[in-house]
Amino acid sequence: MTDQDTIFSKIIAGEIPADIVYEDDEVIAFRDINPQAPTHVLVIPRVRIATINDLDPDQAGIIGRMYLAAAAIARNEGIAESGYRTVMNCNGDGGQTVFHIHLHVLGGRALTWPPG
Ligand code: 5GP
Repeated sequence: MTDQDTIFSKIIAGEIPADIVYEDDEVIAFRDINPQAPTHVLVIPRVRIATINDLDPDQAGIIGRMYLAAAAIARNEGIAESGYRTVMNCNGDGGQTVFHIHLHVLGGRALTWPPG
């Protein structure tokens, strides 16, 4: 593991366990270890991109793949129709703690707005 890697690199590599709910050639998704809702899944790209700010134009398709995965997961979890929230935090004020971009997929209860 290089100093650029995060815990998510180890999950991608299968070096630490995760409850994987979806994977394809570009993204992988697993349940959050500290769930904030009955369904709380993290969708991450296999390639490490530290923050939204680090996205290159040629990586735009990865974001689309992450959202397609989120929608598939929501259907599988039975929350597509009741509703859910997708969140990608960025840097300190955004609440990002793991510097490998990830889309939170939260549902299974009514979520309040605005977020804290
Ligand atoms: P952030 O705060 O960066 O937006 O979200 C990071 C998320 O990763 C948090 O919700 C946290 O609970 C989750 N997380 C951190 N370490 C692990 C881990 O080792 N396994 C899993 N499944 N989730 C993790």
